Amino acid sequence: MTDSGSSDSRSPLDTEASPLDAEVPGRPSGRSSGQASGLPSGEAAEAAEAVPQVVSETAAEAETAPEDETGLAAVPEAAPQTDRVASDPHDGVWDVVVVGAGPAGASAAHAAAVQGRRVLLLDKAEHPRYKTCGGGIIGPSRDSLPPDFRLPLQDRVHVVTFAYDGRFTRTRRSRQMLFGLVNRDEFDLRLVQAAKQAGAVLVTGVTVTGVEQRGGEHRTALVTATDGRTFEARAVVGADGSASRIARHVGVTFDQIDLGLEAEIPVPPQVAADWSGRIHLDWGPLPGSYGWVFPKTESSSLTVGVISARGDGERTKQYLADYIRRLGLSGFTPSVESGHLTRCRAEDSPLSRGRVLVAGDAAGLLEPWTREGISYALRSGRLAGEWAVKVAEAGKAADVRREALNYAFAIKAGLGVEMRAGKQLLGAFERRPYLFHAAVCLAPPAWRAFARTTQGHTTFAQVLRQYRAARKLAAMASR
Ligand SMILES: Cc1cc2nc3c(=O)[nH]c(=O)nc-3n(C[C@H](O)[C@H](O)[C@H](O)COP(=O)(O)OP(=O)(O)OC[C@H]3O[C@@H](n4cnc5c(N)ncnc54)[C@H](O)[C@@H]3O)c2cc1C
Repeated sequence: MTDSGSSDSRSPLDTEASPLDAEVPGRPSGRSSGQASGLPSGEAAEAAEAVPQVVSETAAEAETAPEDETGLAAVPEAAPQTDRVASDPHDGVWDVVVVGAGPAGASAAHAAAVQGRRVLLLDKAEHPRYKTCGGGIIGPSRDSLPPDFRLPLQDRVHVVTFAYDGRFTRTRRSRQMLFGLVNRDEFDLRLVQAAKQAGAVLVTGVTVTGVEQRGGEHRTALVTATDGRTFEARAVVGADGSASRIARHVGVTFDQIDLGLEAEIPVPPQVAADWSGRIHLDWGPLPGSYGWVFPKTESSSLTVGVISARGDGERTKQYLADYIRRLGLSGFTPSVESGHLTRCRAEDSPLSRGRVLVAGDAAGLLEPWTREGISYALRSGRLAGEWAVKVAEAGKAADVRREALNYAFAIKAGLGVEMRAGKQLLGAFERRPYLFHAAVCLAPPAWRAFARTTQGHTTFAQVLRQYRAARKLAAMASR
């Protein structure tokens, strides 16, 4: 093993505190509008996740979640902007339209554009935009970035302090970097820039309401937006996040929904320095819950968050408040407090319909235990972009079906296997979190497995396959 860990009992609790205005390349259509799409009147809520200073929730959440879970605040969507109108295809049909310019969408757009296809990338928000996220970039995320991509790292993690609901604190160290931390606004902006450099055309301020398949002579799919514009393509990638409109069309189903709450807490330089290179993980009081402190040292800020199964928003809020207090950070005023749902796909959930593929959060692709989603978004986005090109080239419905099925196979063979392992671990962790705490704090092989997974040298699925002790721990905890 190249990684070695050591431990001590130092706790952070011991520390002091411790575009251009232009015509958008879509075509107005009398047939489709936001209202005609049958959307709920939740447009403002839809845009909420794109803007800082709010506790945000998406439209689908607003429809399905109890209102008091995150305290939704409405914000306006970005004004329509585009940067390369000249690339509007002459026949008005794009090879690939990608909906959503997060890591999944930017990756998909990059993968399709590098093959010389005409790619349109749509987002309701204008980058840089705030995104509720810890910004943890694990090995598989780093390995899935476009060539020459420069990570805007805020910090490099070498040290982890583990706690079990605020107690039994133990700190472990790794000589090798475990993972990196970014601010999502900078990270996503760079991903979008990489997609643009590869030839994709970005249009922001477009809130997509849905997509429809066009058969017969058309053999296209038509993406519709709230302002009545439509965008026609031979293939569509839905990468519009966890409340995806495109996922509804595809019929994606979820079997795990969690609520993540975060506070961005600016801290004085000496407090930031104290946290530099070190994260805090707290196995929480609610089943399957945990909390984290991810330092953003370059911007002198700490991202403090908790995640727990949806349905008990008040207790999740309380957990975050208690966690911040216990860390000695309640004296600092958060610059942003926000919340977002994460959703994991059911194993038999579809990944495509006709000429439409889904990726990232929209497809419910997320690590079920840690709820790590950036690597899933980057990996599935790239695959979706590559297969969208093949779907775009396919003429007959049978060929379209075959390429879409190949995409689903690729996802299931990779991320699907990892998700199955993650669900197994989550099930065990929900029942016996203290066993996980004891293992990672006291058993060097468990710590090494944790470290090597974050570094991308192994996966939870491999750990469960290779190590009898890991299988026994998971089985014991599940009882
Ligand atoms: C509290 C919390 C902390 C997290 N921390 C981490 C972490 O540390 N590391 C990690 O790997 N993962 C983390 N995740 C998960 C991670 O944030 C997501 O899995 C990841 O952002 C998914 O990327 P995506 O591209 O699929 O979706 P998103 O990043 O959500 O991007 C979707 C894009 O689509 C756009 N969009 C949405 N709807 C529409 C529409 N109707 N029309 C047009 N555009 C639209 C949005 O503006 C957005 O730009 C965290 C999640 C939460 C909730």
